[in-house]
Amino acid sequence: MTLQTPRPNDLPLTGDLAAIVGDGHVITDPAERAFYSQDVYSAGTLADLVVRPGSVEELSKVVALATSRDYAVVPRGGGMSYTSGYTPVRERTLVVDTQRLDRIIDINDQDMTVTVECGVTWRALWEALSAKGLRTPFWGPLSGIRATIGGSLSQNSTFFGAGQHGPTPESVLALEVVLADGTLVATGSGGTKGAKPFFRHYGPDLTGLFLGDTGALGFKARITLRLMKVLAHQAWGSFAFDERDAMAKAMAAIAREGIASECFGFDPGLQKQRMKRQSLMTDLNALKNVAAAGSSLVKGLTEAAKIAVAGRRFMDDVLYSCHIVTEARLQIAADTAMDDIRAIVKAHGGREIENTIPKVTRADPFVPTNSMLGPEGERWVPVHGIVPLSQAAETWGKIDALFASYADRCQAQGVETGYLVTTISTNAFLIEPVFYWPDARLEIHDRSVESAYLSKLKVHAPNAAAAGLVAEMRDGLKKLFLEQGAAHFQIGKAYLYREGRKPETWALLDAIKKAVDPKGLINPGSLGF
Ligand SMILES: Cc1cc2nc3c(=O)[nH]c(=O)nc-3n(C[C@H](O)[C@H](O)[C@H](O)COP(=O)(O)OP(=O)(O)OC[C@H]3O[C@@H](n4cnc5c(N)ncnc54)[C@H](O)[C@@H]3O)c2cc1C
Repeated sequence: MTLQTPRPNDLPLTGDLAAIVGDGHVITDPAERAFYSQDVYSAGTLADLVVRPGSVEELSKVVALATSRDYAVVPRGGGMSYTSGYTPVRERTLVVDTQRLDRIIDINDQDMTVTVECGVTWRALWEALSAKGLRTPFWGPLSGIRATIGGSLSQNSTFFGAGQHGPTPESVLALEVVLADGTLVATGSGGTKGAKPFFRHYGPDLTGLFLGDTGALGFKARITLRLMKVLAHQAWGSFAFDERDAMAKAMAAIAREGIASECFGFDPGLQKQRMKRQSLMTDLNALKNVAAAGSSLVKGLTEAAKIAVAGRRFMDDVLYSCHIVTEARLQIAADTAMDDIRAIVKAHGGREIENTIPKVTRADPFVPTNSMLGPEGERWVPVHGIVPLSQAAETWGKIDALFASYADRCQAQGVETGYLVTTISTNAFLIEPVFYWPDARLEIHDRSVESAYLSKLKVHAPNAAAAGLVAEMRDGLKKLFLEQGAAHFQIGKAYLYREGRKPETWALLDAIKKAVDPKGLINPGSLGF
């Protein structure tokens, strides 16, 4: 990537933007623009400018000004994605950083809604709601310390709460979206003159239209999510399996029961990476959180003590493992659900092991994003596909076969693979193959990983051969997922979304894009536009 300085004819735009957002919030420095033009996997075309609006009104004026001068505008939230969702694909592009739009506008415990600006992080929302005994049904991805609610809604995401309540979109009630000409459009009941944004379904679902669009249709500015009361009691379970298919089938059967808040698993490859990274010391650091998270002090301390006694040896002879949380208003209900899960696991040939992993994950849900690098400083990138529950074992087997065909080349280049799998609601199974390879870090890694952790990691030289092999395998996976009829979150500019659409489906989407963004200036390339 070459660094450019702004062309003279761009300078008036810089001044006009600064008049809207203030001098300090228009970034012209080439190195800083380079940072904002890269995601966790790769770098795009260098953005001409980066703008950081501080209010929805400023956001709307910035977008209107830029598009009136034929600049493309790209939304960027926490920057925690890896599918080129916000990386520019052309010159004359502004990256709009939404992180100053970080106000929690209204927590309404009477109507059970919360309205936020798009740049609020999941961690900030979780902290504010927990203090009131409230939560959103889906309550964040593992990257929630940095990932924003606007970013997660734009590419959809899954993890905390998704086992029962589905991914991000299913917790959303209403939006206010800035379109390409700067117009602010309200959806759901918020689109009624003088009404509150308390209900999603009033006429055609305009809220849904903008969810998962990877920022191709507009800027989500304000977002209203549904609230529920925190379920105070939890049970945790971890289970080992000797075979991939047995675990996939057991997890699918658990999902069908709709009783697991989170249900996630690792293959031997990912487990190896995790065990290298997560020592008992990290578990011990988490103990204070486990102790504090207990529904009573005694329960918290008891659970923390169990982790310390169990250590890490319980994973030594485990091949595949799955980790589950159940939660309820009463402890007996959470425990009964876990008993049902134990019965399913037993019927599929699994066995129970120490439940340290789900307990620690829940006690401190939004930890620093150190896992965006491998345990020895390698680069990391996941790919994923979402398939029907009945198809999970078959698709996973096909990916394994693809990986086996690359085994020798992977070994030669030091490329390692693993899998994270998880279930979503009662109807979907997400398979996430993950790559690790020795290669130079990007600036985004240096800024996102804790410095104490970073300083212990190996520094790798640029390694085009290994990176090329990962790119080739990633392409192979995308094709395989398309053949398998898989769905994707994080479509960005990476997955074969447009290629896979039925012509009539694409034509309708294209007409919608033209209605909201006639000049094609909102996040060009995203979704395949
Ligand atoms: C360590 C790590 C762990 C992760 N764990 C998970 C996980 O558990 N579950 C999961 O689903 N994902 C996970 N991810 C992936 C990613 O972090 C999430 O999907 C997250 O939701 C991205 O949010 P963000 O704010 O960083 O979005 P960004 O990366 O900034 O943007 C994502 C997309 O949304 C668009 N966008 C951003 N803000 C707006 C807006 N206001 N309006 C319109 N478009 C917008 C961007 O243009 C881009 O296309 C993980 C990533 C990392 C690095």
